[in-house]
Amino acid sequence: MLPKFSYARPPSLREALNLLDNENARIHSGGTDLLGCLRDRVFTTDTVVSLGAIPGLRGISASADGGLKLGAMTPIAEIVADAAVAGRFTALADAAGVVASPQLRNQGTIAGNLCQKPRCWYYRGDFDCLRKGGEICFAYDGENQYHCIFGGDMCYIVHPSDTAPALAALGATCRASSPSASRSVLVAALLVPPSVDPQRETVLEPDEIITEIVLPPPAAGLRSSYRKVRARASWDFALAGVALALVFDGDVVTTARVFLSGAAPIPWRAAGVEAAITGKKLDAATIAAAAEGSVAGAEPLSMNGYKIELFRGLITEQLNAIGNA
Ligand SMILES: Cc1cc2nc3c(=O)[nH]c(=O)nc-3n(C[C@H](O)[C@H](O)[C@H](O)COP(=O)(O)OP(=O)(O)OC[C@H]3O[C@@H](n4cnc5c(N)ncnc54)[C@H](O)[C@@H]3O)c2cc1C
Repeated sequence: MLPKFSYARPPSLREALNLLDNENARIHSGGTDLLGCLRDRVFTTDTVVSLGAIPGLRGISASADGGLKLGAMTPIAEIVADAAVAGRFTALADAAGVVASPQLRNQGTIAGNLCQKPRCWYYRGDFDCLRKGGEICFAYDGENQYHCIFGGDMCYIVHPSDTAPALAALGATCRASSPSASRSVLVAALLVPPSVDPQRETVLEPDEIITEIVLPPPAAGLRSSYRKVRARASWDFALAGVALALVFDGDVVTTARVFLSGAAPIPWRAAGVEAAITGKKLDAATIAAAAEGSVAGAEPLSMNGYKIELFRGLITEQLNAIGNA
């Protein structure tokens, strides 16, 4: 059962921001993640502030510079169906298309997808884990088959969003407003690693609202993709995933942005892959070096060593595919 809280549905961004002055208030977009967290007592709140009645937060529009703007309240399903996203930002279309189930894509929004809480069963369960203010991460010596192989530092979650690595690879930015200012944050810098703060998921302050996500115009020669491997063909979170945004000049990769999902507490920039392919043709030797580069420095836990082979295979498959696209 849900605990008691007051529910506000302000008609303007200004009023919503004022309501967030109460430190314990929580933003509600589609509610597909928030309400589950409240029901399971992952955290509590006195006030839920819905963004549903605020005009102008939903929809996809072209920017003057040739990029695209996604309103924060845009449902994932609208992103999947959008021709401009499908035609020019393939990685985002791919990622949005594999988020959860059709019902959740109809209800869940793009900003909520970026800001969703981790799926670790200790964090979501009845455990006083480090991320909830306790002393330890229970996954480290526990059931850690779905946890991270990079970036674990006292807490070993993986970030659950499929759209975050795709948006990070595409160089997207979030616009966020607070009662006193607004600012831009690169999606690649939105999520906080546990080495910085294991109790915080994003750099946003409690009184900041993401209002839109801005995609820069795609560079000439850009090819992008996102693919995730999951434990079953139906809806599921990524065991391993990769977002590629590669700029080609002929068959040579001139610029590469590569982010992994299912790998780390944040979308994990695969610097080893980028270094292996930049300035190269995607031939067999280059792809083999990139596959090795994707797992260099990985630190698997007791039950997730299988992810090493998964990432090697995924990188090999996806670089072959994008090279031949
Ligand atoms: C069964 C299930 C399966 C799922 N599978 C996947 C999956 O495979 N891949 C995947 O990526 N996701 C998956 N999800 C997560 C789902 O996609 C997200 O829950 C959804 O996109 C969140 O959007 P929402 O609008 O419902 O967010 P909400 O639940 O409304 O909010 C989520 C969080 O973001 C904060 N927030 C919301 N909007 C804003 C804003 N504008 N500014 C600042 N903070 C904000 C909220 O306060 C809350 O903490 C799954 C969820 C469920 C329940």
